[in-house]
Amino acid sequence: MCQHSPQCPPFTSPDREAAHPIAFFPQQGWSLLCNEVLLFEDTGELLPDGRIVDPHRAPAITFAA
Ligand SMILES: [Zn+2]
Repeated sequence: MCQHSPQCPPFTSPDREAAHPIAFFPQQGWSLLCNEVLLFEDTGELLPDGRIVDPHRAPAITFAA
């Protein structure tokens, strides 16, 4: 299904977030990646096999000046 070159990583790959986004729904806070992963803005994920991945990326650190 993926027509990108190089091909997007499959949803089973630890690299899955590197897939190209093919749809954005910013008002709802998620995007759909080429490998059918739903990626939420808090870094949670819903995989096409129904698994849910908890948010796993620490919030961006703001350094005091
Ligand atoms: Zn792709």
